[in-house]
Amino acid sequence: MHLNILKNAKISIKLTILYAFMFSFVLLLLNTCILYGIIHYLYNQDRKQVEDIKTVLLQKATSENDVTSLTDPEMVSDVPSKGNIFIRIFREDGKILNASGNFNFIVAFKTPIDKFVHIKEGGNHLLYINDKLKMNEYGNVYFQIVKDLDNEDDFMKILLIYMILADVFGILASILLGYIVSRKMLKPIDYITKTAENISINNLKSRINVNGPEDELSRLGTTFNKMIDRLQDAFSKQAQFVSDASHELKTPIAVIQGYANLLDRWGKDDRAALEKSIYAIKLESANMANLVEGLLFLAKGDSAVLQLEKKEFWLNELINEVVSESKLIAPNHVITSEKNDTTKIFADYKMMKQMLRVFIDNSIKFTPVQGKIDIRAELQHQSVRITVSDNGIGIPEEEIQHIFDRFYRVDKSRSKDTGGTGIGLSIAKWIADMHRGTISVESDEGKGSKFIVILSLVY
Ligand code: ADP
Repeated sequence: MHLNILKNAKISIKLTILYAFMFSFVLLLLNTCILYGIIHYLYNQDRKQVEDIKTVLLQKATSENDVTSLTDPEMVSDVPSKGNIFIRIFREDGKILNASGNFNFIVAFKTPIDKFVHIKEGGNHLLYINDKLKMNEYGNVYFQIVKDLDNEDDFMKILLIYMILADVFGILASILLGYIVSRKMLKPIDYITKTAENISINNLKSRINVNGPEDELSRLGTTFNKMIDRLQDAFSKQAQFVSDASHELKTPIAVIQGYANLLDRWGKDDRAALEKSIYAIKLESANMANLVEGLLFLAKGDSAVLQLEKKEFWLNELINEVVSESKLIAPNHVITSEKNDTTKIFADYKMMKQMLRVFIDNSIKFTPVQGKIDIRAELQHQSVRITVSDNGIGIPEEEIQHIFDRFYRVDKSRSKDTGGTGIGLSIAKWIADMHRGTISVESDEGKGSKFIVILSLVY
């Protein structure tokens, strides 16, 4: 349940919690280490102090070996102690021989011997050590050195309170700061989200304002803007395509409608009008069918529905096939294949044929009767060069750069009779591109044109 709340929380909250948790963990670990270090150091010092006093005491007792000195108050008051140290000297039977003033702790003196003991008793925290010495007069004499650790405990208590206060303050500050910082850092994401919400097909103009440091968020903004640029580009291209296509279809439809009206009015009686209208309607509908087919091809190509069906085949055989078909279609042109190298290529057979047909159909259209059209394939180093050339009307130099654009016709009046749609070459280019080939054109107005496709033989 709690985990779910955390899972669904805002990123800024998650970051704050994580940050505060890590900070608190490090703080607590550090403080615990410091506290333990100090305790360890203080107790060590205390032990050393008690040990030193014990050594001095035992030395005194043995060096003087005088029983009276054991009971001498100086014996216990003379030790170089800094306070909070209490000494008692016992006889075997428990009789106290000597003791520091105000020694009022109850601590066993016989056991353990020469071993430090920590006890907490009646609100006192004590560290003590016992030792014994065999003396001539009394037999075993017991020495007991006790250190009251109240001061150390007070110091530790104060230190602990300060540390807890510092920890609480630090943790609260880390939560607050973490929240403010993470919110500020994530603010651009909010802004990106809002901009994205505003963007729709009808409004592709909004862009994210990318300024500030070059960080992940500004990169996200730039990437997002680029994506919208591409979308806008694609949408406007699509809109342009649809409007061009409708425009292209409008003319033949208008022509067909015109002749249909003519037929309606006069065609029943006027035989000449009837024949003229039927001929025109047939021609226009054939044109329209051509156009629609081309449009469908390009639309499928744009949306990547069209898949290449590549296989290995002999290019020279395809060229021979296209040449003999073209001879049948255009018996009044001289169609040749002067060079046709035996070449095996890996490509989509149907599309290669379609591409060649575009070039040849154009050559037939734009070359006068008896004109020469040559289709050739030449093997080059790791590639094959396919050329379709004619000695037709050619293309004006300034138009060459546009002829591969969709719906572009050099001079509408000159292609009026030929019934071009302006999309043949854009289809040819699409096919060449899809085969990672290059397409180029050389043309001299009035002399002829040459379309060249170079296909790589390395796949
Ligand atoms: P179209 O359907 O009009 O032939 P294309 O895209 O195939 O459309 O060709 C575009 C234009 O390029 C044509 O209108 C024509 O003016 C010009 N063109 C193409 N091939 C030739 C050629 N072999 N000779 C002269 N002009 C050509």
